[in-house]
Amino acid sequence: MSQVVERVLSFDPAPAIARGFERGALKEHVRFQAYATIPDFFDQPDPKRCTCGCGRELTGRQRRWAENDCSAFGLAVLRILKCDADVIRYYLSEQRGAGCQHCGVMNEPLQVDHIVPVHKGGGGRWLDNYQLLCECCHKQKTAEDRRRPSTKSGERGRASRRLSLGG
Ligand SMILES: [Zn+2]
Ligand SMILES: [Zn+2]
Repeated sequence: MSQVVERVLSFDPAPAIARGFERGALKEHVRFQAYATIPDFFDQPDPKRCTCGCGRELTGRQRRWAENDCSAFGLAVLRILKCDADVIRYYLSEQRGAGCQHCGVMNEPLQVDHIVPVHKGGGGRWLDNYQLLCECCHKQKTAEDRRRPSTKSGERGRASRRLSLGG
């Protein structure tokens, strides 16, 4: 596993997400966070140091990132939070394996599912609100989501069910 992948998978997204919501770049009832940009998630308190938080000093014409790995990491975080399905699919399969996370089927195209659906406020979340499902399981999950009332208890039910789904 590359350093960038490891860094993304062990990243604590809470501060970045809080910042994104605070700045209005993330919206919980929106699927694609089209207007979010790097400064919506990364504070750069010292303009002479790398945005990613690695602490390295910027040199020459560098404005934001000290190294390629820093920008690869930062852009992956940005794309995940913007809901880029290809990037999310890549990181989820690195983290949890390449099969459907419900039925386990392999060698089928997998779709990215919001565990807490967007219409229940699951937009603008991190990888823990996504799972990879085969088309069949995804259809079932989407139908279930529509049947469930959009209450707070419904969301809690969904969040705890996800453990058995992920199994
Ligand atoms: Zn850096
Ligand atoms: Zn499946």
